[in-house]
Amino acid sequence: MLGQMQSHPLLISTLLVHAERHHGEQQIVSRRVEGDIHRYTYKDLAVRSRKVAKAVAALGVKAGQTVGTLAWNGYRHLELYYGVSGSGAVLHTLNPRLHPDQVVYIADHAEDQVLFFDMTFLPLVEAVAARLKTVKHFVAMTDRAHMPAQTKIPKLLCYEELVEAQDDKYAWPQFDENLASSLCYTSGTTGNPKGVLYSHRSTMLHTYAAALPDSLNASARDVILPVVPMFHVNAWGLPYVACMVGVKLVFPGPALDGKSLYELFENEGVTMSAGVPTVWQGLLAYTDANNLKFSTMNRTVIGGSACPPAMMEAFEQKYGVQVLHAWGMTEMSPLGTVCTLKPKHLKLSPAERMAVQSKQGRVVFGVDMKIIDGDGEELPRDGKASGELLVKGPWIVAKYFKGEGGDPLVKDEQGQGWFPTGDVSMIDTDGYMQITDRSKDVIKSGGEWIGSIDIENIAMAHPAVAMAACIAAFHPKWDERPLLVVVKKPGAEVTRDEMLKFFEGKIAKWWTPDDVVFIDAIPLGATGKMQKNKLREMFKDHKLPTA
Ligand code: ADP
Repeated sequence: MLGQMQSHPLLISTLLVHAERHHGEQQIVSRRVEGDIHRYTYKDLAVRSRKVAKAVAALGVKAGQTVGTLAWNGYRHLELYYGVSGSGAVLHTLNPRLHPDQVVYIADHAEDQVLFFDMTFLPLVEAVAARLKTVKHFVAMTDRAHMPAQTKIPKLLCYEELVEAQDDKYAWPQFDENLASSLCYTSGTTGNPKGVLYSHRSTMLHTYAAALPDSLNASARDVILPVVPMFHVNAWGLPYVACMVGVKLVFPGPALDGKSLYELFENEGVTMSAGVPTVWQGLLAYTDANNLKFSTMNRTVIGGSACPPAMMEAFEQKYGVQVLHAWGMTEMSPLGTVCTLKPKHLKLSPAERMAVQSKQGRVVFGVDMKIIDGDGEELPRDGKASGELLVKGPWIVAKYFKGEGGDPLVKDEQGQGWFPTGDVSMIDTDGYMQITDRSKDVIKSGGEWIGSIDIENIAMAHPAVAMAACIAAFHPKWDERPLLVVVKKPGAEVTRDEMLKFFEGKIAKWWTPDDVVFIDAIPLGATGKMQKNKLREMFKDHKLPTA
């Protein structure tokens, strides 16, 4: 027997309709590429997004076709989020930090019809425009006054002119919630990047789950500044959560240095933020150096790579800012787990509590996870066994765009498909998941696995260390042994032997790195993560003293 309740498709446009009606006066503040601060309201966002939907259609984009963006976090990008997806077209957010060849590959693969870009990326677009096979229109996301006097891009269009040419009389179309809404490519550290095609339904379910108190805990009383880019897995869903609950949104635009972020945090009364660990390093270096405190920020989500406990402690103890450690991936929209406490943890000492909080956390309802051994057998959730992490749920990829890479799912006995994350982890009896490594980064020493994250976390707690990466180096007897690569803080000193001594008593002896090398900078990928494949390449001939 069927239930007898109304059935409405879960569509992204409904978020905007809700926000206009119920949070119409709430503010959206953006630092613009032009340099100034722009302010408007959700009402303005809704009006302009309707115009954007019409403008995109006027450019010939049909439902189901893709529209690319190369843009920072800002209100115009947000208008494209709603205007493009809401109209039934697919928003494809490209990562401008990728190599131009990869930008070309991705835009072609996605068959982008129009490319919207912030003026920062004019040189990039000029360099690739002639090579893009499917893009029919290029649109600079600025007003006439800021358009380039000369450009190599043929018939470059002006965003503000396109928007202003339309009125806002537009009814959001109703369609199947399973239709595609947006597209995001994985960063492709191995092989070509693969596209993950989100649907309206997956995005909406993810939004409900992301807003929950034990997820991102977003409310109408919050002022949220997403540092995580809108080109990196939809800024972890915050642009959608914002409309659902009516937060004041603050966008940093291109200015992601510590000083600019701090000023925006303070001037706009930001209560919550989100970003990868490397971004917070810059911010904390600035606040440390200038003896500054946060007057309104009370929590920040840190994910994308492991948050070193030393950073968590600094945020909490020095600044009174709670860190929510979160884990996810492009293939998961991205939220998988968030590390929020259970009542029993509240009684713990700060050190014991920190041990819990440095785990990647508990699943958000909707995501199911398990760990398996090399034979595919499920491992116990005892906090000791470690194996490959598999996930399933309604906002997790079933297959990559255009079927790239074949069928990625692993079937269980009931025939249900699980997505293999490529992460190696443990799950404890309370359900907290802890990543020990990515399977491709794990160090295989004499047949045993050494997790690099633990080693990095210890190194990061040394006062002279700005950044640390632990990679596998060749060893004639053990195959691989850990090599620690360290970037020192400016003006700080530490020797190789002091560094190695720092591990004593903190880790099993055989996990201690065999050697330490100091370099000026660790290569970071397009989403701000350490590129360990590059480091492995750099040190492939490194001779360990133990060899
Ligand atoms: P990529 O870097 O592959 O583009 P994602 O941003 O999708 O992509 O990254 C997903 C991966 O990032 C995860 O599989 C995991 O290895 C890593 N990751 C994400 N969050 C965390 C975290 N909190 N701790 C450790 N690793 C993380």
